[in-house]
Amino acid sequence: MSSYRYCPVCAKPLLQLLYQGKPYVECEEKHFLHYDTQAVGAAAIIVHEGKLLLEKRAVEPGKGCWGLLGGMAEPGEQITECVVREVQEESGLEIQITRLLDVQGGHTTCVVFYEAIVTGGQLFVSSESTELRWYDLSEIPYEQLAFQSHLVMIERWLSDIQKIK
Ligand SMILES: [Zn+2]
Repeated sequence: MSSYRYCPVCAKPLLQLLYQGKPYVECEEKHFLHYDTQAVGAAAIIVHEGKLLLEKRAVEPGKGCWGLLGGMAEPGEQITECVVREVQEESGLEIQITRLLDVQGGHTTCVVFYEAIVTGGQLFVSSESTELRWYDLSEIPYEQLAFQSHLVMIERWLSDIQKIK
């Protein structure tokens, strides 16, 4: 059952319905329709002079741990625009995507991972992190990463670039 109970427009109780066995809610006046889905976000492996940029997270989930920069897509935004915007907001850096690495779905969030390079901007620390650090590729703090998906992505990316060399 959905956790939504009332229409956000007219406040009438929502109809609790099923489509192909999956629950959804709908306003009888058709103002509002909601299926439980995954939200989409993006994160970037940003490389500069052989180092990888990580942020020490100031917010949950993963507060106090290190993570790749990124965030959730806004309505109407392309996922590539999302990652560029999030990195700019979180670090002040302008990036250019160099390739798509992978897409990893989870319980409530699906994250698109990109590799990117820095093309401009000035590094600063936003309210979303307490520290930004360029990590040497041999010193990545795997035990202090906030998300398993970031760990998997970084390890796979490292093994990929070592094959190319
Ligand atoms: Zn309504």
